[in-house]
Amino acid sequence: MKFNSLDETHIKKLQAMVARDCFTAGPSVLDLHARDQSRHPPHRPEAVIWPTSPAEVAEVLKYANANLIPVTGWGSGSSLEGNPIPIKGGIVLDFSRMNHILDIRSEDFQADVEPGVVYQDLNEKLKYTGLFFPPDPGARATIGGMIANNASGTRTIYYGSTKDYALRLSVVLANGEIIDMGTRASKTSSGYDLIRLFVGSEGTLGLVVRATVRLVGLPAEFSAAIATFPTIEAAGKVVFQVMRGGLNPAALELLGPECIELMNREEGLALNVSPTIFMEFHGSTASQLAEVLEMAKEICSTEGCDKFEPGLGRTERDRIFKARHDLGEMIIRNNPHSRIMVMDVAVPITAYSELIRAINEEMAGTNLASYYISHAGNGNVHLNILGKKGDRRQWDLIERIVERLVARSLELGGTATGEHGIGLGKRKYMIAEHGAGLEWMKHVKSLFDPNGILNPGKIFP
Ligand SMILES: Cc1cc2nc3c(=O)[nH]c(=O)nc-3n(C[C@H](O)[C@H](O)[C@H](O)COP(=O)(O)OP(=O)(O)OC[C@H]3O[C@@H](n4cnc5c(N)ncnc54)[C@H](O)[C@@H]3O)c2cc1C
Repeated sequence: MKFNSLDETHIKKLQAMVARDCFTAGPSVLDLHARDQSRHPPHRPEAVIWPTSPAEVAEVLKYANANLIPVTGWGSGSSLEGNPIPIKGGIVLDFSRMNHILDIRSEDFQADVEPGVVYQDLNEKLKYTGLFFPPDPGARATIGGMIANNASGTRTIYYGSTKDYALRLSVVLANGEIIDMGTRASKTSSGYDLIRLFVGSEGTLGLVVRATVRLVGLPAEFSAAIATFPTIEAAGKVVFQVMRGGLNPAALELLGPECIELMNREEGLALNVSPTIFMEFHGSTASQLAEVLEMAKEICSTEGCDKFEPGLGRTERDRIFKARHDLGEMIIRNNPHSRIMVMDVAVPITAYSELIRAINEEMAGTNLASYYISHAGNGNVHLNILGKKGDRRQWDLIERIVERLVARSLELGGTATGEHGIGLGKRKYMIAEHGAGLEWMKHVKSLFDPNGILNPGKIFP
């Protein structure tokens, strides 16, 4: 598709659609909207607009569609695969000013929000209601961006990902039409499930302007433990046993010793520098959780656990999980001369040990530094591999390693991306993962966005 650049006439027309301070073509703001948190090269949009209402979004899209101007939605820009990078230029619609929590219906366990609401701010507001919104990607992500990427996080193993929390959406389509989808009822069998189609579509089918999200009660009791192991393989076997044993963890995270060393240094923790599992259980009584923890300890001991530390209090637990959430940024900060390849494969839990074996085999003898970070209960691994900036040979090697690991994950019944989305980096795996299904995805895209103006260049190879 050939798109048009913004000329003076376009700029004047677009400026007239929003308040004076809601449009800019200033270079510094364009630069801020040229890159996400990934290794992908930046690309500037031609203008940034901060809409303040669904009607403004609709007017901009209608105009952009008629004039073949690309439009890319923007939440916080915290994506890890180039998802919001406007690689074809055009307009970025930054939703940060549509950040109002419109209604909290605590007795229905629901909240209505604008897309720019940051999920931590929603949870802060919910604190006094005894409810929370569980998906937790760690970065300061917006609900709109989380819906678009189907984000998840450390608690997904128990609570599910964003797709399980989107009940009702208002979406502006490429032609400017506003449609509502879903229901506020807790179940429905009515027609095609458009919500599931839009969640994870990375802003390529329409832009979310309102969302009703499901909330859940804060757990009455929780317990958390740290277990360390001589090897990642041993820890991986424990992950499988905990899941197979039906212990139902609320978090089951596995980190390599290099991550623990970094967390100790940066956050003043004093953890054993070994492969480590953080586990957490939620329940209604302390005695029930004590039993579960005892079972977890027993499982750990069968794999040569060096140290099992149960009974972490809330403060210690929060400190550790904060450090866990900050790991991505710590890695970037501590390796200023490297770019980082963040792998995001996920496999069925029965194949988790095999995935670890494949990773070890690939990395052995390469001299590449890497950090092993895993939402292990979901069989999801983020191997962060460091490559020197500008070292083409090293990057070719890294690309080949990741390609082979993605291929192995697909053979094992898994996916190229457990949570970060396709964006730019995972497009090349779409044929292998979806086969003929990819053609039907293209049909869906052309139905909703025949001119291809929404976030062009993403998802499809
Ligand atoms: C340190 C760090 C840790 C992370 N950990 C995790 C993790 O554990 N789990 C996880 O899932 N992710 C993780 N992420 C990735 C990221 O936080 C998530 O993908 C998040 O959902 C992105 O939200 P955002 O608001 O930043 O969206 P953006 O990055 O701004 O945009 C994401 C996508 O949504 C589109 N978009 C934005 N707003 C809208 C809208 N209103 N309507 C339609 N489309 C829209 C954009 O065009 C883009 O395609 C991490 C990122 C960082 C930096």
